Amino acid sequence: MIRLEHVTKTFLTKNGNVHAVKDVSLEIQDGEIFGIIGFSGAGKSTLVRCINLLEKPESGSVIFEGKDLLKLSDKELRAQRQQMGMIFQHFNLMRSRTIYENIAFPLRHMRLKEEEIEKRVMSLLELIELKDRKDSYPSQLSGGQKQRVAIARALAKNPKLLLCDEPTGALDYKTGKQVLKVLQDTCRKQKKTVVVITHNLALTPMGDKVIKVRSGKIDSIEINPSPMDIDQIEY
Ligand code: ADP
Repeated sequence: MIRLEHVTKTFLTKNGNVHAVKDVSLEIQDGEIFGIIGFSGAGKSTLVRCINLLEKPESGSVIFEGKDLLKLSDKELRAQRQQMGMIFQHFNLMRSRTIYENIAFPLRHMRLKEEEIEKRVMSLLELIELKDRKDSYPSQLSGGQKQRVAIARALAKNPKLLLCDEPTGALDYKTGKQVLKVLQDTCRKQKKTVVVITHNLALTPMGDKVIKVRSGKIDSIEINPSPMDIDQIEY
């Protein structure tokens, strides 16, 4: 589904150049849960943001479903990005809107009928087990619940790929584990491809494949580091 070929991203700062991603090549298969680990500043976030071109690499290719994203027009790129959802460490929910409206928001520009929007939002609320909180506001939810809403919002447009930048970074360990479980279950059920950065080594067995990034390069790759379901991991 995704192929990065010799991707390099350098930031020009007043203190010099920061080589955040250095000549990285990798492949992510359809339906795979792809974990990325590594220390802070290793280049994980930049690497993930190169996949949807939130960061534009200065060299290399980003191939998504056979199309080189760096060669597309803005309009074509927007169409490809519809296939990619993203979730962030700090949830990025809209405070002044209810949980229902947060999840419905990405659908509001799609000219769908209200019944269709309601159907999609309610089924996502069911998946994340927050149906009874649909009229609450984000400030009334716990961190784990907020991240579950962010997962539902990212899935609202039915993207094929979900990019997750430290989704458990702002959560305590146990809550982080629960959120990853929801992410894993939901994405397996809906056959999504997931790229997930986590700094929590013990949580990586959720990945079908895990890469370790160090100083902008892939340090190691592990395929199926553990066949265990996240439920079975002992802490
Ligand atoms: P990680 O996600 O592993 O913590 P990042 O990808 O955020 O790492 O950062 C990799 C390196 O790139 C770091 O040295 C960071 O300071 C630098 N960096 C990231 N984003 C920018 C930016 N917008 N401008 C300048 N430097 C940046």
